[in-house]
Amino acid sequence: QKPVPSDIVISRSCVPKPIDCLAREVGLMSDEVELYGKTKAKVQLDIIKRLQAQPDGKYVVVTGITPTPLGEGKSTTTIGLVQALGAHMKLNVFACVRQPSQGPTFGIKGGAAGGGYSQVIPMEEFNLHLTGDIHAITAANNLVAAAIDARMFHEATQSDKALYNRLVPLSGGQRQFSAIQINRLKKLGIEKTDPTTLTEEEITRFARLDIDPESVTWQRVLDTNDRFLRKITIGQSPTEKGYTREAQFDITVASEIMAVLALTSSLEDMRLRLAKMVVATSRSGEPITTEDLGVSGALAVLMRDAIKPNLMQTLEGTPVFVHAGPFANIAHGNSSILADKIALKLVGPEGFVVTEAGFGADIGMEKFFNIKCRYSGLRPHVVVLVATVRALKMHGGGPTVKFAENLPDSWMEIQLVFLFISNLLFLICAGPTRRTDTEAELDLICNMAKTAGAFDAVRCSHWAEGGAGAVALGQAVQRASEAPSNFKFLYDVELPIVDKIRIIAQKIYGADDIELLPDAQQKVERYTKQGFSNLPICMAKTHLSLSHEADKKGVPTGFILPIRDIRASVGAGFLFPLVGTMPTIPGLPTRPCFYDIDLDPETEQVNGLF
Ligand code: ADP
Repeated sequence: QKPVPSDIVISRSCVPKPIDCLAREVGLMSDEVELYGKTKAKVQLDIIKRLQAQPDGKYVVVTGITPTPLGEGKSTTTIGLVQALGAHMKLNVFACVRQPSQGPTFGIKGGAAGGGYSQVIPMEEFNLHLTGDIHAITAANNLVAAAIDARMFHEATQSDKALYNRLVPLSGGQRQFSAIQINRLKKLGIEKTDPTTLTEEEITRFARLDIDPESVTWQRVLDTNDRFLRKITIGQSPTEKGYTREAQFDITVASEIMAVLALTSSLEDMRLRLAKMVVATSRSGEPITTEDLGVSGALAVLMRDAIKPNLMQTLEGTPVFVHAGPFANIAHGNSSILADKIALKLVGPEGFVVTEAGFGADIGMEKFFNIKCRYSGLRPHVVVLVATVRALKMHGGGPTVKFAENLPDSWMEIQLVFLFISNLLFLICAGPTRRTDTEAELDLICNMAKTAGAFDAVRCSHWAEGGAGAVALGQAVQRASEAPSNFKFLYDVELPIVDKIRIIAQKIYGADDIELLPDAQQKVERYTKQGFSNLPICMAKTHLSLSHEADKKGVPTGFILPIRDIRASVGAGFLFPLVGTMPTIPGLPTRPCFYDIDLDPETEQVNGLF
């Protein structure tokens, strides 16, 4: 069908199979599936135990070259590839993708269900509320924020004894510690369970978290591109007695709770991670956690359903897990470990699970290897690097130039840097091709990739043709998955923080060195003292350049990467150095995508989403 209709029109033209049928097809038992309407279901984690003995399938990750701001087609390729492997090559497959934030859906970029004839359907369900996981994260995140400010307020306005009596109230004439409070006492080195036996000094230490308001790193979140919340003042009502504080909102997908969801391996592990999240520092320099605030159990309760992966399908009826969608700069930008693990069991040893790493290879791929794979223990068999003519032209100097003439020879080699670090098999997928791409340009990408050392390079047309347009890619992936690979981490987590950052900067971005600005220096000292120095590194850098400056295209050289500050996501399990300034809640443009979105009241159909 030409020209290709809009994404929503294509999505609507296909009747999805009932999700319970798909669940049966992929080998799920009916009591392992919780239906959310006819097109979405959650899968219970018990399945991991049932399939424990089943060997895993082949693990494929899709990444991209340094992209343009509009995306280069990684999601489209992830979906096109599973449609090819599943619907055309008749192999067991699963795609595992991120749940998109509503910020970009209504902002500039639009949805993230893939595009053209390679999509997750129904795309409006996928792009909007799904099964409410992001809303659960918003609720949990903001409960922590409320707990921090309320606690600081109560501590500031009450005596030690009054605080203690309220924290450990009389019930039936007796005071009793909750389980969370006993944990806090243990952390303070007070081995007591009878609330009447605490000394005055112990009461003070127990009752006062003594949070330094300047040190609060936990922010409120909202899943909307609301730029006016980037800096706010809270506590302005007279009821808060003048305890105002400057604060900010982040987008929900930037919440540490989203990163926890993506990196957790079980309900028990999630409960532990949710308790370890550090939200501030006390005036004496101790890290204050969600467990100290007494809120960690409530967080686990709010996240109880969100931890279960969501089952959906592609346009060609192959299964998809949509689960977790951490921001790709201040978090690690990869979908959940749990979904990948369950999918690898479900497809069996001859099957394929294709997952996607957000942003370009220098960010999403590096974090996939060094954070996600480190925590999951999984190792990819094949990496597919999406290279589009549009992005290559931009890096070569602009949309009107012939990129081949301007791009340095080393460009593709740099994009393939992981090949040399991890010695993995890379496949280049030139595409999904656009109408404006010429034969010569596409051939050139394939030749550059092969010369630079890729296992193979193939052209695809799955955006316009669906899975049929990615069969060559599917066959290449199958061949590549049979060749030996030798996966290695880029750095040892036990190295000092600065050494780990320097390795990433030099080996991945091509920087001469790093420069630690004063705030970053101070955090290196603080986190080392607090015992967090052995966490992996999650660089918060622009994805639009290999360097820290978005307008430096191609292969920037001779630069020093400035590290402005470093933050810790202790529960999720990484440190994130801030390279330059990073907006943590995007803004809306003058004409956002929502101008085109509307509901037809007669058919109840959503129009205008893309
Ligand atoms: P990424 O995952 O890299 O961010 P996406 O797969 O989401 O990129 O694609 C970005 C957008 O580009 C989507 O709206 C998709 O429909 C569109 N797109 C992808 N390939 C093509 C193509 N060949 N022609 C036109 N539009 C395309």
